[in-house]
Amino acid sequence: MTDFPTTPAVQEPEATVVSQLAAAVQAGLPVAIAELGRLVRIPSVSWDGFDSDEVQKSAEVVRELLEALKFFDSVEISRAPIDDKRLGQPAVLATRAARNGRPTILLYAHHDVQPPGDPQHWESAPFEPTVRGDRLYGRGAADDKAGVAAHISAIRAVIKVIGEEMDLGVVVFIEGEEEFGSRSFGAFLTQHRSQLNADVIVIADSDNWNAATPSLTVGLRGNVTFKLRVSTLGHAVHSGMFGGAAPDAMLATIALLATMHDADGAVAVAGLHSRQAPLPDYEPARLIEDAALLDGVTPIGRGPVLSRLWNQPAITVTGIDAPTVVNASNTLVPSVTVKLSARVAPGQSAADAFIAIEAHLYKHAPFGAHLEFMDIDRGDPFLVDTTGWAVDAAKAAMTAGWGVEPIETGIGGSIPFISQLAEEFPAAQILITGVEDPDSRAHSPNESLHLGVFRRAILSEAILLEKLNRRA
Ligand SMILES: [Zn+2]
Repeated sequence: MTDFPTTPAVQEPEATVVSQLAAAVQAGLPVAIAELGRLVRIPSVSWDGFDSDEVQKSAEVVRELLEALKFFDSVEISRAPIDDKRLGQPAVLATRAARNGRPTILLYAHHDVQPPGDPQHWESAPFEPTVRGDRLYGRGAADDKAGVAAHISAIRAVIKVIGEEMDLGVVVFIEGEEEFGSRSFGAFLTQHRSQLNADVIVIADSDNWNAATPSLTVGLRGNVTFKLRVSTLGHAVHSGMFGGAAPDAMLATIALLATMHDADGAVAVAGLHSRQAPLPDYEPARLIEDAALLDGVTPIGRGPVLSRLWNQPAITVTGIDAPTVVNASNTLVPSVTVKLSARVAPGQSAADAFIAIEAHLYKHAPFGAHLEFMDIDRGDPFLVDTTGWAVDAAKAAMTAGWGVEPIETGIGGSIPFISQLAEEFPAAQILITGVEDPDSRAHSPNESLHLGVFRRAILSEAILLEKLNRRA
């Protein structure tokens, strides 16, 4: 056999541009991490009772970063009303019109964060971005300031590689109160409808299968939260004088809440739906590990674990207002208030789910206890239509960016504004991506971003932008 001199393989034009984008993303990574760190340093907690000046500051930095790209026709900070008295938190909106008949893509993320919780539980200060190993720690380092930084870095890489050939319309919408229920989101959509109108919407606020495998999120559960007051007595009475005959609200509450699950811990509320859908493989051991179940503690519910997480309802008691143990006197408690948080399977409306839960609670209230429902909040579940061209393009972009095909996943959590977006823009194709992985601990102490995931997510989005730019 003859030894041929090795010649470089002829590269497809697409492969060339992917490797150029990969080089640009790699070279831009220190800047991307620095920009993300700058955002993490601002404690932009959008909740009532936290300094809203910080949310404004964070919006201003986002605006500055977007303006510095010198790419957009306009970049503005805007607040929409929550009601006729209050304004929502500041969002940032940047737009660049499409040229030469190209489509328009809307890139969404949010710059507000959850409160840090007890700083004692953090290994490094929550608002001091800190790299340990291959992760960047800090509140918002993943959820969702990394989404903001990824959009900016992906656009920067594309401009660097294709420059003037960039004809794609791009809208960047960085919300300021996602963590506080997106209260002014509907009004914002109405106010900025023409600027937000897009063919494809990328919502970078979800997670990935693991640090090596991307996910395209295609199903989200909805949610229903409310407060429930259970009352049995007009006032507290002595537990020795009346205990055993007069029903206290604590007993009634415990008995009532216990009717919502069966012996397996599966939800036992008639009228709540489940969805049937194919699922990727998932070992129960992974749940035990990821959710940190203690030795000997068993998972609850029935059916495949992912069906329980994505396609079945869940009900959790997340708070109880009752006398504390130190203050416990020998009295029958007259009334107890609990907070309930339910997840709704895709395919059922949140309104419908609430009706089923409310009916169940009335039906099972023991001893004629009085029930009062307060602060009812509903967000609908969402299923992505996976038949559109944008889903194919996104999957191909992820495969090129990660070197591994994406897994179509559901997510147990809820992003209620997605159904609002879909309602407002029914023709838009929605893609739910993200920068998180199972170790990100969004909303918890020691939240972090895997820097390899960050790079791959930026690259995938840059590849997607470049692909769509070639679409007539
Ligand atoms: Zn988020």
